[in-house]
Formats: sequence, C-alpha cells, structure tokens
Amino acid sequence: MDQVIDKTAFEAEVEQLVQNQRDYFNTNATRPIGFRLEQLKKLKGILLRHEDEMHDAIYKDFGKSKYENQLVEIYPLIDEINMAIKKLKKWAQHKSVKTNLLNFPAKSYLVPEPLGVSLVIGAWNLPYNLSLTPLVGSMAAGNTTILKPSELPARTSDIMAKIINENFDPNYLRVVEGAIPETTALLKQRYDKIFFTGSPKVGKIVNKAAAENLTDVTLELGGKNPAIFTKDCALKMGVKRMIWAKFVNSGQFCITTDYALVHKDIKEEFLKLAVEEIEKNNFSRENNNYVQIINERNFDRVVNLIDPDKVYYGGTHNREERIINPTILHHVSLEDAVMQEEIFGPVLPVIEFETIDEAFKIVKRFEKPLAAYLFSDSSATKERFLNELPFGSGAINDCVMQISNPNLPFGGVGHSGMGRYHGKYSFECFSHFKSILDKPTVLETNLKYYGYSEKQMKIIKVLG
Ligand code: NAD
Repeated sequence: MDQVIDKTAFEAEVEQLVQNQRDYFNTNATRPIGFRLEQLKKLKGILLRHEDEMHDAIYKDFGKSKYENQLVEIYPLIDEINMAIKKLKKWAQHKSVKTNLLNFPAKSYLVPEPLGVSLVIGAWNLPYNLSLTPLVGSMAAGNTTILKPSELPARTSDIMAKIINENFDPNYLRVVEGAIPETTALLKQRYDKIFFTGSPKVGKIVNKAAAENLTDVTLELGGKNPAIFTKDCALKMGVKRMIWAKFVNSGQFCITTDYALVHKDIKEEFLKLAVEEIEKNNFSRENNNYVQIINERNFDRVVNLIDPDKVYYGGTHNREERIINPTILHHVSLEDAVMQEEIFGPVLPVIEFETIDEAFKIVKRFEKPLAAYLFSDSSATKERFLNELPFGSGAINDCVMQISNPNLPFGGVGHSGMGRYHGKYSFECFSHFKSILDKPTVLETNLKYYGYSEKQMKIIKVLG
C-alpha cells in the first residue's frame, strides 16, 4: 500500500476523483441495464482470473487457507454476482402499485434509479466479501463507486486495488487504499451513498460525515451476539453447529456467537460436548481451518479478555504466530472484562440461566446485537425469541448460516447497524425508488377544481 505523505495532495486527488465520477454519472453512461450487466460480468471474470493471487494474498495476511477463502469469501461473492446478472432486469423494472379511486384513471408505479456516486468502506475480517459484495449492489443499481478496503490485511487490499484499478475506468470504479487519515479525507467529500462495514465506534464517525451532506448511509456494524440453549434443545446437534460457527475465521466474524447462555441443567453436558466438537474439528493452521488473529493489537486485546481462573478449555496462545487456541470460559459473570465488549476472537464465555426470562434479560442488557441464536425444541420459546428480542438477523437451531441465504436480507439494528443488503436487497440499498402517478389526458374528474362544495367534500371523503 502506498504511504500517503502529503495529506493535502491526497485530499485534492480524492476531491477530483469524486468530481470525475459525478461528471461521469451525469452523462447517464452507468444507467443502461446493458452497461451494468457488462461491468458485472467483467468483475466476475477478473475475480476468477485472479483467484490464485487472491488466495495467496489472504493467506499471507492472516493465514486463511484456499479452502476457507473459497467457502466464506469467493463462492458467496461469485453467487452474489451471478444472482445480480440473472435478476437485474427484473429488479430494475418499474414496480406497479394500486391507484386509489381519487386519482382514477391513472397508473401508479415505482421507478428504481441509481443514487449517484457511492463510497464503500470495508472491514478486515472477510476482506474480499465485505468490500466486493456491497460493490456488486452499487454496480447493479447503476452507480459509480469508490471502494476503500480495510488496510489491515494489506496484501488483500493491494490485490483488490491492483485488479480493479487496472481493469476499470476510474471515473466509474476506483479502489482507494488507506487507513484512518485516508478514510478521514475520503469522508470529507460529498457522496450520494455511503456503505460502511466495521465497528459501531467508527460507524458513528461515518454517520456524522454522511449527515453533513444528508447522504444516504448503510452501516453494517457489530455487537454481542447471544446463543441461547434451552433445557429441551437438541444439544449435541446445536453444539456441533455453534462450535464450528464460533471458531471459523478464529471467531473474527461479526455474526458469530459472542457468548453462550445455557440452561443450568444442561451446562455440564454442554461444556463436555463443546470440547468434544472443538477437538473433532481439530482447529489448527496445519489443518488449514484456523486463521491467525489479524494483528498484534487485536491479539493482545483478545488475550486480555481471557481470565485464567475461568478457563474451562484452551486459553493457550502464541503471540509470534498470532494464534489464540479455541477457548471456553465458565463461571463467567456479567461484570467480567469479556462481557464488556464484542470479543471478535476465539473465546467463548458460557453463562448459565434458570428461566428464559432471565436469559432474555441478560440479552437486553446489551445494545441490540447483529445476530442472535436460539437452540430449543419449544414452539412457545421460539415465538418468544422472535417476538421479544431485538437483533439484526438470526437462526433457530443453527448459527451464522442465515448469511448464506441471499434471499434473506442482511443487516443490523440500532448499534449493530442500519440498512440491509445481499441479493435484491443490495440493489435496493443502492437505489432510490421514485414514486410516480402516471395520468392519461383523456378523462378528468372535477372534484379538485372550482371551490369546494359540501357535495364535493362528501365524495372526497368516500373516495379517500
Ligand atoms: P473498524 O471500524 O476499525 O474499521 C472499518 C473501516 O473503517 C476500515 O476500512 C478502517 O480503515 C476504517 N476506519 C477505522 N478507524 C477509522 C476512523 N477513526 N475514521 C475513519 N475510518 C476509520 O472495524 P474493523 O476492525 O475492520 O472490523 C471489526 C468490526 O466490524 C466489529 O465490530 C465487527 O462486528 C464489525 N463487522 C461488521 C460486519 C457486518 O457485516 N455487520 C462485518 C464484519 C465486521
């Protein structure tokens, strides 16, 4: 990544880039569906051609294996592009709605249109997926885009910049690399859409910058995600699903379980099964199923959350390798350090509860999470989970897999974010829907003209 030396020069460069993209957008070149499809196909071709380099970059950044990179980054991304290519014509059609009697005769419909110049800011934990999936939405909707990937996986950021900047017109799509100073400079400009993935803390900075220009903003943030295990759940299967989802990407996954709430009668069995599952998965770098912690700062942060007196399993780590082995904590209290922030690492605190009311009360002590999971066999508890707990997305008797269904929109609520994307929701996220009343000129009702009589008022009341 280039070191930015002259901040003023960088700001001037960015200002020019945004202006050039706005001018290009205003030529209407990005609006035709044919153009959008062509660009999406081009993006797909470039990604497939450079797959090996992309694998190599992410492996060097934090040890993510080719298999895992395919599974959680590249396949979902290519699926997203394929879906946009297949469905774009349908998504971009006018959407008819009913016309009320007062406006009869007329047609009413919604017209999707691109917002203009988008800024997409990515996070580091799934760096390809979280930068390029929103980009697909921006392109499908017909915008121009400036993409700023996270600087932490530096080679991954570099490869995205290289393959995109070498192949696309910068007036249409440009990757700008950088850390906080560069992102701060980018946020000084006016955009028509800002799409941000990252922490709630930086989300607030982005939201303030967007508010300066009343820019439409989507924030994909994080939080403390609970997984609740009730006494009647299918425990073995539930633990199997949750443990894989907790330790994939070494727990550096925004929708993974942050903490487990387990009924006191099944807690011992839960802990035993959790250890068995960890050992069955054999999470390790040698097995290509365990990534490094992204950097030393995060390594130290996560290690400091492990209270040695509360370790049930694991707790070991290697700073040189930036590896924290899968760790389970028990006898955890809500006052412990591990319960004061989002963990974002391979540490699972287990807290026991007696009644479901007590479990829900614990969840509600925290900001609304990005995800929540319930493992239960009881229809009544499932209903209560759906109706009483606020969260972005979730699953019943599973964990994280809701993200892999593109028909389910993905997003948070409150401190875990605003707005949603994936599949057609990405198209909608980067579009404005103009509401149109389309009148023929042959017929006219006289109700609104020439003064208001009692009779007119009565008719208007009936027509609504
Ligand atoms: P982060 O907020 O530190 O960084 C995200 C982006 O913001 C990066 O591109 C970074 O360069 C930029 N940035 C950082 N500090 C900034 C500042 N002061 N001013 C302007 N820009 C700044 O987040 P992260 O560490 O990359 O990711 C971890 C967080 O992201 C966790 O909270 C996690 O839950 C969340 N997350 C959410 C999703 C989601 O889809 N909702 C996905 C992945 C991660």
